[in-house]
Amino acid sequence: MDEGYRDSIRARRELIVARMADALGRAGRSLDEVQLVAVSKTVGVDEVRAAIAAGYRVFGENRPQELVRKTAALAGDPDLPAVRFDMIGNLQTNKINAVLGRASLIHSIGSLHLAQAVSSRARRRIDAGELDASADVLIEVNVSGEESKSGFAPAEVRAAMGELMELSGIRVRGLMTMAPRGDQDIARRTFRGLRELRDELERDHGVALPELSCGMSEDFEVALEEGSTIVRLGRVVFDPSFALQ
Ligand SMILES: *Cc1c(COP(=O)(O)O)cnc(C)c1O
Repeated sequence: MDEGYRDSIRARRELIVARMADALGRAGRSLDEVQLVAVSKTVGVDEVRAAIAAGYRVFGENRPQELVRKTAALAGDPDLPAVRFDMIGNLQTNKINAVLGRASLIHSIGSLHLAQAVSSRARRRIDAGELDASADVLIEVNVSGEESKSGFAPAEVRAAMGELMELSGIRVRGLMTMAPRGDQDIARRTFRGLRELRDELERDHGVALPELSCGMSEDFEVALEEGSTIVRLGRVVFDPSFALQ
């Protein structure tokens, strides 16, 4: 790990945070309403350490075995500040147990079947005294309707919300989505659609869904203007060649 990379990650963080503050300001919001998740799926533990030194405290992984590997590598180091890892990627039922207790938030509950599986495993672990509390989760919604995207269709979430809220062992904290790449207007529509769906579910079900996880390297400013409370940033954080004007 050369000094140049550390400097770059630090300088980029300052720019990213300034950009976030500007975007939030345009929406009458402020930085303390938002969590920045540094998506470390393409980098190693040394890069994560550099990011911690630069000020990042929450990381996102999309593969359970990487989540396990990185949390293990960083655990028990008295020189490190406390950091958290979120699970942001596709989760198979046979990997749920590896993620429970290690991920502070699971962003990617994309089907009722997965929600039920996480619920039953979490409940079992809580009963066995192996897990302190229910697992915090977000419901992944395919707002844009792109075929390649996973998650609930909006109509499916509307239909399943009652059941999702009833599941013990998990606590639904909000919604997550990914926008199609390459068009800021379509991204904006996607994020706005997520927020409107959230507002509707809160109203219809009398529940609080405070978190909206949306916004990646190419569209986080638009996401923050549209109400995102969690941005998931990978390349813009870790890739020194990713354009950040
Ligand atoms: C990779 C990934 C990100 C980060 O993407 P960038 O474009 O590199 O910022 C965010 N969310 C999910 C679910 C991802 O898989």
